[in-house]
Amino acid sequence: MDSIISNPVLTLVIPCYNEEEVLPETISRLTAILEELTESQLISKHSKMLFVDDGSRDQTWDIIASYNLKNPFVSGLKLAKNAGHQNALLSGLMEAKKNSDCVISVDADLQDDLNAIREFIIKFNEGNDIVYGVRKSRTTDTFFKRSTAQGFYRLMSKMGVNIVYNHADYRLMSKRVLQELSNFKEVNLFLRGLVPLIGYKSTEVYYDRHERFAGESKYPLKKMLAFAFDGITSFSVTPIRLISAVGFGMFGISLLIAAYTLISKFLGTTVWGWSSLMLSIWFIGGLQLVALGLIGEYIGKIYKEVKQRPKYIIETILESQSTLDTENTKKVNNSEREAVAVQ
Ligand code: UDP
Ligand code: MG
Repeated sequence: MDSIISNPVLTLVIPCYNEEEVLPETISRLTAILEELTESQLISKHSKMLFVDDGSRDQTWDIIASYNLKNPFVSGLKLAKNAGHQNALLSGLMEAKKNSDCVISVDADLQDDLNAIREFIIKFNEGNDIVYGVRKSRTTDTFFKRSTAQGFYRLMSKMGVNIVYNHADYRLMSKRVLQELSNFKEVNLFLRGLVPLIGYKSTEVYYDRHERFAGESKYPLKKMLAFAFDGITSFSVTPIRLISAVGFGMFGISLLIAAYTLISKFLGTTVWGWSSLMLSIWFIGGLQLVALGLIGEYIGKIYKEVKQRPKYIIETILESQSTLDTENTKKVNNSEREAVAVQ
């Protein structure tokens, strides 16, 4: 970070989808934390929570609206219809960016340990732009959730996608990180993959993951699979490369089969027509896969172009003294001109 902000304005962004059962508790716990942090002067008193109602069909929005009247920390944003966790989160982040120095995204269900917020802020005040919340253990998740989620993280890293192991969407981002994030225009949003691409100074904070305070997970298996698939296909061309690899493999096998077929033919153990059929099947099969893989490579390139991700992100610019001097002269000249105009 260029300059370390003392007393930063913090906004907590909380996406909510049918969370009426947990909201009152979440609000009271987060209020206590904000009060404590403002009192100890770690954050500005203009800090707040921003609840994003992701098209809930229950009382979620009414609860947010009623707390908005009585709790000075509570603000809300209502999406017209369910846009999905990642999009809801992004809408909140972009709204919060306008007047916050840093933003922490946290789930409504109190699964993430809220005490980590204090550490997030301390790390931010030490000069980190991104602070990732990383789960120490997953003992409170069901066996199924735990194994599928960990399998997913491993698969992602095998596919060459840079994500932080055991980190979900509990993280702090500075204003300039959000600014850079807004330059990623892609529609298939996978924030966990995007944030590490930004590359500013980051650190991790470890915390215990609790069970959901109330209600059910809003990520049923179907949504979870779609999310994982989105993550992989938005960040990796490895699946396409696999097609080419299998194609070359089949091509290799077809050479072996060719030798086997020809030997069998000359030994006279084959029926008429078998050898040519065998050869064509393997050879053409391999050829087709190689061709598909090749086309896939181009499609992968097109996909990358279409996403129009930023090609680089600037960390700092040091102006040379001479440029600064010219700017000062310009300013002086301008003020002289103004002075003349006033006369
Ligand atoms: N959520 C959302 N829109 C959705 C699904 C979920 O805003 O379409 C919110 C949800 O209210 C919660 C967070 O995203 O605050 C994470 O969802 P959940 O806790 O159900 O996921 P899990 O922890 O089971 O992976
Ligand atoms: Mg949850």
